[in-house]
Amino acid sequence: AVLRLTTTTAELRERALAALAACGVDTAALTAEGERAAAGGERVVTARTPLTGEDLFPLVASTPDHVDEAVAQAVSAFTTWRTTPAPVRGFLVKRLGALLVEHLEHLAALVTVEVGKTPSEARGEVQEMVDVCDLAVGLSRQLTGRTMPSERPGHRLQETWHPLGPVAVVSAFNFPVAVWSWNSALAVVCGDPVVWKPSELTPLTALACTALAERAARESGAPEGLFPLVLGDAEVGRRLVDDPRVPLVSATGSVPMGRDVAARVAGRFGRTLLELGGNNAAVVAPTADLDLAVRGIVFAAAGTAGQRCTTLRRLLVHTSVADELTRRLVEVYRRLPVGDPTAPGALVGPLVAPRAAEAMEAALAQAVADGGEVLVGGERVLADDAPAARYVRPAIVRMPAQTDVVRTETFAPVLYVMTYDDLADAVAVHNDVPQGLSSAIFTGDVREAEFFMAADGSDCGIVNVNIGTSGAEIGGAFGGEKETGGGRESGSDSWRAYMRRATNTVNASHELPLAQGVDFG
Ligand code: NAD
Repeated sequence: AVLRLTTTTAELRERALAALAACGVDTAALTAEGERAAAGGERVVTARTPLTGEDLFPLVASTPDHVDEAVAQAVSAFTTWRTTPAPVRGFLVKRLGALLVEHLEHLAALVTVEVGKTPSEARGEVQEMVDVCDLAVGLSRQLTGRTMPSERPGHRLQETWHPLGPVAVVSAFNFPVAVWSWNSALAVVCGDPVVWKPSELTPLTALACTALAERAARESGAPEGLFPLVLGDAEVGRRLVDDPRVPLVSATGSVPMGRDVAARVAGRFGRTLLELGGNNAAVVAPTADLDLAVRGIVFAAAGTAGQRCTTLRRLLVHTSVADELTRRLVEVYRRLPVGDPTAPGALVGPLVAPRAAEAMEAALAQAVADGGEVLVGGERVLADDAPAARYVRPAIVRMPAQTDVVRTETFAPVLYVMTYDDLADAVAVHNDVPQGLSSAIFTGDVREAEFFMAADGSDCGIVNVNIGTSGAEIGGAFGGEKETGGGRESGSDSWRAYMRRATNTVNASHELPLAQGVDFG
């Protein structure tokens, strides 16, 4: 099914401006300054929508001076914030969570306009922000260190966790608000201001979130400068990550971006938290519940038009169930409603930009050259309704082997299907890619499930059983190994990345025994 476009760029512009204004952004000033900058030949960031592929309006881009000033504001806020008790810092995040609930529909509308997500997925992303605020508020009373027994009488050994300093957050287009909240809700509770450089494709959602965060800060009596925002492309990002006043850079995006950022930050001995590309696979075993597997696979592979870092891109199916599973998947793919994400029943919206469609076309051509067979999808739809946009039918490709194109992350809805006979071989193929983000096995056999989760099983940061690769909850630590970058965000003990650890030895005795029994006169 193809869903015709029901909106125009002018309507989407009005929808975005109304949502921004509701979140507290002065839209008259914003658009006037953007127009002035564009007319004066200054650098701008152009807000656009993948629904029609057209521009909405220009915004002033940050200059190097703006970036330096943003970091200066964060440094200044840090001097007060680091000594504000953590539970008091939690008040700010509690207020932010309440504002996010109040403005859930406004933010979701902006996510749909800027990224093309269906309203349900857009709301889900904002809900994730609310959830992580809840987690952070609880954490504000649980930033615990350990005590260890000292080998010396009358001595105590303990660790204390302190705020780290301004955190730079560089984020990707595809989770324009959730990734910021994973970082900032935790960082702010940990005592760190956050300087945010969102994707140049998603400036509007960033402006709305920042307005709400600043309001939460004002209303909870926090200092100014906790949430500076800079807008621009990779050049603006580089200026920020190179700043020695920023002890931690949390960067989400492609592997080439992470490679550049990691080297730059390591060069000045800063810390990085990297959340980079994935090339996620699922194994479907002979005992799998195929009804459940089909639903899990289609959501993970075609949801968000294949533009999640956790999108399912590779399927390893046991030969005994391969034909039936593929037939059922192809049937569902043929019926997938593709098109206007705001139309009732829509499941697959647009790709973010023509570049993504070109990458998909090139990957499909290469897969066919490698001996693959496109079983369904890959074709462009709505080309007449929206010539500047890129809507595509998600594709399934049967591959004879895991060739280079399969080992590469193409950020579009392409699912490569391969077969296996022996689970150990399947796991070897599964792990034979440079990325290590998310993985899944569909099986009714507890031994197979345990093997997949064991030390010699999947090498990913996320290993699921009887559930797809995408759609993580915030309670767990999120992130992956190898080229995915090794970072962990959100739940569990991820908060530690935003703090520095001090080890304290306290002597409450009248003696001075030295460690390891050393005698010094
Ligand atoms: P991208 O790498 O093109 O851009 C990401 C961000 O980095 C943008 O803000 C961009 O301006 C900035 N940037 C790019 N080069 C930079 C540089 N050298 N220095 C500083 N900043 C720089 O990625 P994208 O197209 O926006 O997002 C898609 C990619 O992100 C996919 O590879 C996807 O898997 C990945 N991703 C990963 C996760 C995760 O949690 N692991 C989450 C979302 C997206």
